[in-house]
Amino acid sequence: MKVLVAVKRVVDYNVKVRAKADGSDVDLNNVKMSINPFCEIAVEEAVRLKEAGTATEVIAVSIGDKACQEQIRTALALGADRGIQVETEGSVEPLVVAKLLKGVVEKEQPQLVILGKQSIDGDNNQTGQMLGALTNMPQGTFASEIAVDGDKLSVTREVDGGLQTLSLNMPAIVTSDLRLNEPRYASLPNIMKAKKKPLDVYSPADLGVEVTTHLTQVSVEPPAERQAGIKVESVDELVDKLKNEAKVI
Ligand code: AMP
Repeated sequence: MKVLVAVKRVVDYNVKVRAKADGSDVDLNNVKMSINPFCEIAVEEAVRLKEAGTATEVIAVSIGDKACQEQIRTALALGADRGIQVETEGSVEPLVVAKLLKGVVEKEQPQLVILGKQSIDGDNNQTGQMLGALTNMPQGTFASEIAVDGDKLSVTREVDGGLQTLSLNMPAIVTSDLRLNEPRYASLPNIMKAKKKPLDVYSPADLGVEVTTHLTQVSVEPPAERQAGIKVESVDELVDKLKNEAKVI
């Protein structure tokens, strides 16, 4: 069984992002970039399926400029077998990513596609669902557990107030939630080995996709700074301030 995993290059989750001075975008100058945390979980799940003998090959795919090869190499160091980069100029919107992933799915014919539930830069939570719609493949989103049983896939989903378990016919799409697994760290020997693993580069045209834009980012601004708090001497003073200054009661 072939497993395709989509990995996105994003600002590292430890970085406090800043907006550019003109508010046009997030400032990416000298900022540490990493694999999107939910994609790391997706890679880990695919590698575990391979280690369990369920998957035969794990392919990591990323869409972006040349820099995203770094995140493909990370996925290879974590245990993926080969990589695919679909080269675009900078980042593209989720619908285009989904169309390009559909092209890769048609080329590679995986039984299972695992994506992150969400990228932490755009917080879109769209790509897996759009890929499901474009390919007509069943999808199990926000997965906290998956199990392969023949040509069926059981997906336990984290939904509001509990868990839901679905049985999907494969080929299928899964998007990973936080509790699906705890990803491993790449060892130094595996990082070295990853440099030699195959990585193919396709253009959108190779996949028959035209990159179009339906969205324009109008502005990016940081959240409003929090005001300093004050200490009150008594409950009466607190109630008075809430009533007369904050006007919330
Ligand atoms: P999003 O819909 O942007 O929140 O992204 C959800 C998931 O789609 C991510 O966790 C990735 O698995 C995948 N994805 C989104 N953008 C890309 C990209 N440029 N390259 C590879 N995978 C992506």
